Amino acid sequence: MSKPTKTELAKYKSILERQLSSLRGDVGSMRDEALRASEQDASVDHLADQGTDNYDQGFMLGLIENEGETIKHIEEALERIHGKGDWDFGACPLCLEEADTSKKKPKEQKKAKAGKALDVWIPKARLEYLPWARFCVRHQEVEERNREIA
Ligand SMILES: [Zn+2]
Repeated sequence: MSKPTKTELAKYKSILERQLSSLRGDVGSMRDEALRASEQDASVDHLADQGTDNYDQGFMLGLIENEGETIKHIEEALERIHGKGDWDFGACPLCLEEADTSKKKPKEQKKAKAGKALDVWIPKARLEYLPWARFCVRHQEVEERNREIA
């Protein structure tokens, strides 16, 4: 994995901005947009039958579950793309924490330097599916587990 390129950042930015404007609209207009994207000539009746089967299901499910949280995550991701976030866009903050040897004891620092450099970048496949993903898959699972306990 590597740091996203400028071209990739521009792509994620346009996805995020489109999703953010969809989220801020009502579900109706979002459905219209989804329809237009999937089937140009579909009628309104057709839409009702068809439901959202053809739409990006992950995106739909995510925002129905927790629209407000998704909006927040998208806004934060956009801030990171603009360099105003708490960490670099595309990096996992918990991996960054693990890779930060400055907080470790000198002995551990040496060990960390000798070992393989930690990969802090979220895989591109994940970012393309969820550009606002905050964590790598491994840390996402840790986060969700922590949330269930809390
Ligand atoms: Zn991570």
